[in-house]
Amino acid sequence: MGAAAERIVIAGGGLAGLRTVEELRSAGYRGQVTVIGAEARPPYDRPPLSKQVLRGEADDTSLRPELGSLGAQFRLGERAERLGDHVLLTGRGEYPFDRLVIATGARPVALPGPGPQRFLRTLDDALALREALVPGARLVVIGAGWIGAELATAALARRCRVCVVEAGPAPLAGAVGAEVGAVTAPWYERAGARLRLGEAVASVEDGGIVLACGEWLAADVIVTAVGVRPEVGWLDGSGVALEDGVRVDDHLASSVEGVYAVGDCAAFWSARFGRRMRPEHWDVALRAPAVLAANLAGGDQRYDPVPYFWSEQFGRMLQYVGDHKGADRLVWRGDPRGEAWSACWLASGEAGDRLVAVLTVGLPRELSQARRLIEAASPVRADRVADPAVPLRDAVSGGG
Ligand SMILES: Cc1cc2nc3c(=O)[nH]c(=O)nc-3n(C[C@H](O)[C@H](O)[C@H](O)COP(=O)(O)OP(=O)(O)OC[C@H]3O[C@@H](n4cnc5c(N)ncnc54)[C@H](O)[C@@H]3O)c2cc1C
Repeated sequence: MGAAAERIVIAGGGLAGLRTVEELRSAGYRGQVTVIGAEARPPYDRPPLSKQVLRGEADDTSLRPELGSLGAQFRLGERAERLGDHVLLTGRGEYPFDRLVIATGARPVALPGPGPQRFLRTLDDALALREALVPGARLVVIGAGWIGAELATAALARRCRVCVVEAGPAPLAGAVGAEVGAVTAPWYERAGARLRLGEAVASVEDGGIVLACGEWLAADVIVTAVGVRPEVGWLDGSGVALEDGVRVDDHLASSVEGVYAVGDCAAFWSARFGRRMRPEHWDVALRAPAVLAANLAGGDQRYDPVPYFWSEQFGRMLQYVGDHKGADRLVWRGDPRGEAWSACWLASGEAGDRLVAVLTVGLPRELSQARRLIEAASPVRADRVADPAVPLRDAVSGGG
């Protein structure tokens, strides 16, 4: 990199933004770094918001006790509004840059209606929601995705009356498909929540919601958890190509020279899976910045991960690794009515079947074996994958 004369500006002060600063410094970059963060809080972690924070076990999820040692300027409570020629503009100032990193994350989707709908994205959202989740409160959660399931779990622990409304045919259908998601449906009722599947919401009103079928569901607290969209509207007209987020190549570089993107807002090309992907996963925001920083420092590294996600819901630990979009078939490993099982997705190719994604429930060791098999694209025998008595690592064709 052009040594000390370089100025790097990072838009977004979440995990991906902070990790980029940390990795730049560990890569030996000594130039100027400025982080523009819309939230007034120093960078914090989001996964605990729907878990420990809602349960009342944590109030502060800050990622670093102090930011001073990074030698970066943090402009918090300031929003990037526009891009000019090598300059980022906020309502308060102009920040010239040699390189820009876009790490503005994602924002929740809102539903129609004048009623007070809450979201769960920020620490302030979580702290305010926790106050509202008093014993006996009627909570309606719209959306049975990862966040909806975790929120329902936490609200039940706070002795709320919980109803989860989902437009799709099963919980988690968008994330893992309806067949696997359906296995998680009984968990809601067993834990004491109502689950209404196949019910679209027409409108969020004061005191409740109207379903598309016309039914009224009364609620004291309404949380919309139907997904997020990349926070890239501020780049409209900037020349930076957008395609469900900032379109970046396998080096995390955008269509504009010197402009990069990382984290929830970045749609990167994966040679491994042969498609563009934008996993909204903590693991991406944690690890991709090391690749980006190396490239900003003059390196030539590709980012092509096997995506990883976890969720804690209804007393279970779920872990997903890989990408099942290109899979040909699903193989169950263990009884999905039980407490520990896996769903394995296989894709067939010239060398035989290979594992492309795995969801484990209560089986962390299996998850790490699955990750290695997916990374290595090893051919596997489907009959051995399906046999929980055979360790997953021994499902490789020719092994055992
Ligand atoms: C409640 C919750 C629970 C989660 N649980 C899990 C989990 O269990 N497992 C898992 O893998 N992942 C989980 N995630 C996802 C994970 O937290 C995200 O993938 C991760 O936070 C992405 O980091 P990021 O830095 O890319 O984006 P963000 O964390 O969204 O940070 C982006 C920052 O940029 C700021 N910003 C936005 N626009 C601008 C602008 N114009 N100018 C300046 N700043 C701007 C935002 O305010 C925000 O502070 C969870 C997310 C949430 C919300």
